[in-house]
This record gives sequence, structure tokens and C-alpha cells, in this order.
Amino acid sequence: MFPTSIAGSLPKPGWLAETHKLWPQWRAEGDALREAKADATLLWIKAQEDAGLDIVTDGEQSRQHFVHGFLEQVDGIDFQHKVEMGIRNDRYKAMVPQVVAPLKLKGRVHAFEARLARAHTTRKLKFTLPGPMTIVDTVADRHYGDRQQLAFAFAELLNQEALALQADGVDIIQFDEPAFNVYMKDAADWGVRALESAARGLACTTAVHICYGYGIKANNDWKEKLGEEWRQYEQVFPALAKSSIDRVSLECYHSLVPPDLMALLEGKDVMVGVIDVASDVIETPEQVADTIGHALQFVPRDRLFPCSNCGLAPMDREVARRKLEALAQGAELARRRFAAAHA
Ligand code: ZN
Repeated sequence: MFPTSIAGSLPKPGWLAETHKLWPQWRAEGDALREAKADATLLWIKAQEDAGLDIVTDGEQSRQHFVHGFLEQVDGIDFQHKVEMGIRNDRYKAMVPQVVAPLKLKGRVHAFEARLARAHTTRKLKFTLPGPMTIVDTVADRHYGDRQQLAFAFAELLNQEALALQADGVDIIQFDEPAFNVYMKDAADWGVRALESAARGLACTTAVHICYGYGIKANNDWKEKLGEEWRQYEQVFPALAKSSIDRVSLECYHSLVPPDLMALLEGKDVMVGVIDVASDVIETPEQVADTIGHALQFVPRDRLFPCSNCGLAPMDREVARRKLEALAQGAELARRRFAAAHA
């Protein structure tokens, strides 16, 4: 009951990359960088296991950014001439690479860290990839001229890598689609279909993570403007409930998402965000168990997977480590608290 995991990313140690940044510069290059990425991956697998998490990730230690890490292995993208672009409907500016020719994978994208992680844990292993719609929103298109067409082109490449990750022994493949919370109509119209296309043919568990973003200032300012209730999920969940995706990761604790929207995901596993990534305050096990209790009103207990609201990448390393412990301890408390009540 209540298997725990984080959304995906964890802070990079200071010897691997700049800290507290979403697009950090690496501290090394070549073989030394590869070795440092491997060390950081193993360190975080151990930390997740020690904290007591049931499902572990590579902590995204081998990619600079959750979208651009994938794009670096794609032909047809010009990384030499980045341009400034407003992303997530102009919520913030970023320097992004440009699509300049038909897209094709250069080869495997994440084989190194996925195999490394698989070789060093016996727990369930989750691996994250950016979703097609979110990639389209994080790159400048100079070739396709149509967001939907571009999204399906990326979905093909994601599908190739996802099938290969499954062959590497990954148990859960999760696509990150924060853009679903920004372009809700497009998400329902074609974003979910593009996502299904990326997950086509997978026999492992498939998941999608939809959040209100990392705990950075631009996102926190945006959330201030969303009003008393955040109802973005209401437009996207019905399409997801009908989709082939198995599991949905959503934001809950310290958010203004009405919890009853979780009921729209009937038939799906729900990864409920019980850890706030926009605050350095460590949740108590009681707070985590309380959030699980609220979610149990709308999600059957065998479908409830406690999770973090989003990735922990920009956080302080020690804060992140303690939040992992809070997540595991809170889920354990919830198992004791709700086992009898629902038996
Ligand atoms: Zn997120």
C-alpha cells in the first residue's frame, strides 16, 4: 500500500554542476564528467533507498535540464545558435536550441545512466522523459511550422528511446508534461494523443507528470495569479482517464488544486504530490499522512502512490534528502493509520 517515489529530479552535488539552478553548468567535461555523473547517480540511488522510497530514479543527474538533456541526442537541432524564447506561455524566458531540419535520434539518449541505475538497485526503477508537448514548448521551431506536427515528430523519437529503456530493465517510464497545465485545450485536443504515441507498445508501467513547475520564482509568481482555485487539471484529466497511460502524477500539498479533481482520473493510478518543492520547510510524517488521507476520499487506496509535487533539482541537497525521508515516513504512518479504517 502507498508505494513512494519522487517526481524525478534531485539536486546535483556541487562537484558535478552549479547548484540551485535549473540550467546548471557542468563542473567537468569528457570522461571526468561522465564519471562524476555516475558517482552522483549512485549516491542518490543510495539516498533514496536509505530514506525508504519504494521506487527510485536516477535523479536526472546525467542531464543538464529535463528537456534539453533529451534534445542533445537529436539530429535536426541546432544547439550552437540558441535563441531567447518565452516558454510556458511567456511565464519565463530561456535560451533554447532551434529545430532546423527533420528530427532523428543520433543514437541512445539515456542508456548509460539507466543501465547504471538498473545494475545498482533491486527496487522498482522509474525513468523520466520530457513529454512531446512540453518539448515543443521548450525549443524554437524553424522547420516544421506546426506545433502538433512537431509534437508527433518528437513522440516518435521518445517512443524509440522509451522502448530501449524498457529493454534496459526500467519498470516505469514517466513523461513530464507541465505544458498540459498551460495549454489545456491543446492538451486535451492533441497533447494526450501525442503522449500516447510516445508510449506506444510499452509493456512496462507508463506515467505522466503534470505539475505547476519547479519551486522557482517565475513559477511561484505565476501561481499567485491563478486565483482561489487551480482548476487546470479539470480540462485535461478526462482525456487522460480515457487514454492508455497507466499513472498520473499531480500536485496536491500546499497547492490550490481542488482535491476532488482527482476523482476525474477514475481507473488510473494516481501519484499524489504530498511534498512541497517550493518550500525548504521539511514536511512532518503527520502532514504527509494527512495529505494521503485527503486524497483517499477521491482515489482508491490501491491506486494511491505518494510522490513529490515536482522535481527537487533546484533545492538544497540536504533539504532534498530530508524531504525524501519525510515522504517515506509519512507513507509508513499512513499505512498504519489507514490500514484498519479501510480493511
Ligand atoms: Zn514537475
